[in-house]
Amino acid sequence: TPIIEVRDIGKRYGNVIALSDVTTTVKAGEVTCILGDNGAGKSTFIKILAGAHEHTDGTLLIDGIARQFSSPRAALGLGIATVYQDLAVVPLMPVWRNFFLGSEPTKGAGPLRRLDIAAMKRITKSELADMGIDLRDVDQPIGTLSGGERQCVAIARAVYFGARVLILDEPTAALGVKQSGVVLKYIAAARERGLGVVFITHNPHHAYPVGDRFVLLRRGRSMGDFPKSEMTLDE
Ligand code: ADP
Ligand code: ADP
Repeated sequence: TPIIEVRDIGKRYGNVIALSDVTTTVKAGEVTCILGDNGAGKSTFIKILAGAHEHTDGTLLIDGIARQFSSPRAALGLGIATVYQDLAVVPLMPVWRNFFLGSEPTKGAGPLRRLDIAAMKRITKSELADMGIDLRDVDQPIGTLSGGERQCVAIARAVYFGARVLILDEPTAALGVKQSGVVLKYIAAARERGLGVVFITHNPHHAYPVGDRFVLLRRGRSMGDFPKSEMTLDE
């Protein structure tokens, strides 16, 4: 079974149809790309998968079980992590502290204790290295990293804390060519590690090289869900 199966999902706000008829799957080790211009319905779709909005039409299955998320926490609990474009990082905090942000256990009880700082630094460094980002110094403030590297830290953090599916909200939209390349390599690395990825973008040139499936949205409607074998990219 796919991790996520979306069947004819839609979202209405009163009479306004923000999204309709989206059908697709997200499988382990695959990248599902959601493509569309402004107003196509990409944000609405992310919010449904991320648990920030309830869908009003269709069925959302996670591991084969129909779900209606009522909070982002519910989605996260099933291993669906969302990395938004405006990252929840604290720029002046060191990279390693951002990596462990929001996950810091309290004092601990008995044999359970908090990782020490040296361990957190080591883990941060090795997790980033595993995905191809070599940081000399995980003590540097995360604000000194490039936008691409910051995206990568956020993705690595989600992976380390057990995400099975990464939902990436326009991760390359604010980046130049070189930094976009860093993030695309990183998406490919996550895929190699067996994660399911939902890559939301308006840029077909970014989607095509890393994508396995392509959902084309236009003015709130899905134009279809196609495997890579049915797609081509005109230069
Ligand atoms: P995208 O992220 O691709 O730019 P959106 O998901 O933001 O697209 O929007 C899809 C459509 O739904 C647009 O026509 C938008 O105006 C409409 N829409 C989005 N959110 C709301 C809302 N809260 N109330 C009414 N209409 C909305
Ligand atoms: P909630 O409705 O739960 O607060 P949102 O943040 O999605 O969640 O609701 C408001 C969002 O909808 C804003 O980000 C706004 O930009 C977006 N939006 C897009 N298009 C429309 C629209 N046509 N009418 C109302 N809101 C819209």
